[in-house]
Amino acid sequence: MNQAINSLDTTVDLATILSAQKSAQREDPYPSALVRVDRLDRVIDLVVRNEQKFCDAVHADFGNRSIINTQSLDIMPVLQAFKHAKKHVSHWMKTEARKSNFPLGLLGAKSKVEYLPLGVVGNISPWNFPVQLALMPLADVFAAGNRTMLKPSELTPSTSRLLAETVAENFNQDEFAVIEGGVDVAKDFAGLAFDHLIFTGSTQVGKLVASSAAPNLVPMTLELGGKNPVIISESADLKLAAEKIMWAKTMNGGQICLCPDTVYVGRARLNEFVDHCKGAVKAMFPDIEHDADYTHIISQRHADRLADLCRDAEDKGATVISLGSSDGCRVPPSLILNASNDCRVLQEEIFGGLLVVAPYDKLDKVIDTINSGERPLVLYYFGKSQTEIDQVTFQTMSGGLVVNDLIAHCLQENLPFGGVGASGSGAYHGFDGFKNFSHAKAVYQQSKFDPLKMIRPPFSTGLRGY
Ligand code: NAD
Repeated sequence: MNQAINSLDTTVDLATILSAQKSAQREDPYPSALVRVDRLDRVIDLVVRNEQKFCDAVHADFGNRSIINTQSLDIMPVLQAFKHAKKHVSHWMKTEARKSNFPLGLLGAKSKVEYLPLGVVGNISPWNFPVQLALMPLADVFAAGNRTMLKPSELTPSTSRLLAETVAENFNQDEFAVIEGGVDVAKDFAGLAFDHLIFTGSTQVGKLVASSAAPNLVPMTLELGGKNPVIISESADLKLAAEKIMWAKTMNGGQICLCPDTVYVGRARLNEFVDHCKGAVKAMFPDIEHDADYTHIISQRHADRLADLCRDAEDKGATVISLGSSDGCRVPPSLILNASNDCRVLQEEIFGGLLVVAPYDKLDKVIDTINSGERPLVLYYFGKSQTEIDQVTFQTMSGGLVVNDLIAHCLQENLPFGGVGASGSGAYHGFDGFKNFSHAKAVYQQSKFDPLKMIRPPFSTGLRGY
């Protein structure tokens, strides 16, 4: 089909593609379920047929990333989301009847909501899950009947190139176009007059994207980063919690927006927790320095950033326990104890294998500390106390809350996925995603009566019948 768009460096080219997509959308403003399913199918097809190529491309971009990681964290979630959307799209498109208020309802007026496509949705994606985060939002974008332009990350060039090529083989440019390029292209892309823009990336860049989108009042879904706290209750199974936390912390080399960041553990059990963490890492990666399953940090710049965070913490009196020796972009996890509030590791998003472990005496104080920071993308609680679970649920604000596990909520198609405040706005996945990328049009149909005549002038007779 169309040619992959390799290196666009002028806004004219971008604007031309956007304009072609908008006119195609005007020709078919409400695509049938069949058309939507066909688009979903074509993405499934391109992913399935090129699975090995995607795994190889991601491995090349990361320097080292195991095929199982890419299959389980990039390929499978995409296929799951697209199959779910395919199965449910006809149902999601159904008219939603709503009750009409008294007295208009009694007079036979009809109220309903129709979900209409927004039009053309721009999508800017990050490097850490370069297949998943480029494609997964599109399950909901296509189910909702939109067209899309994708700008994948320049830090994973092999994967971005493969996306551009495979999408071009399966789609017309006016349905789905991939725009490769660096930050300059990304800036132009963010300034386009899309009908909606989804950005997945850092909070810092999210602010820049929001200001680029503002002149056109482009509505946005922001899927951002931040810090994700973990609370370990006295009632928790400490060993199991440590195993799960270190699994999540070492997944993708710790480069996940949902990675645990600071663990709050009862003062008396802190040392025991640290020992369990060490044991958990040893059990997963017996020889982490040479383990092909341990994902590398994406670039030397980011590896240096993590080393700087450790040095800063040590300079301020913290203890850094490294669970392996670093070499270039291979950066094994470290536990950081006694970190003071002015340590950068407590202020910045970590995005790597560093885990701060902090003691606590009272849950109320931990909740106060969490509430005094930016709102997290997710908060984790380990324990069995329903009273504490309720307290954490209703007294903290985060995109999501996961009890006795980590990351698992984002694999649930029936739960909205998104942040709040500095960790993002808007949410997608499943029906919530369909609604996020639709316009809920209110349709009101008057009955044969004329009930509003009671508020038509002249008012000399006063209001009647309310
Ligand atoms: P990033 O913000 O540096 O870049 C993301 C994308 O933005 C890239 O495609 C880049 O080209 C583009 N970009 C860069 N500067 C831009 C500008 N001025 N205008 C428009 N676009 C611009 O993020 P990253 O380093 O690729 O990814 C890591 C970050 O993403 C972390 O903060 C992580 O928490 C976050 N993240 C969030 C989620 C989520 O679902 N909430 C998922 C994955 C990653």
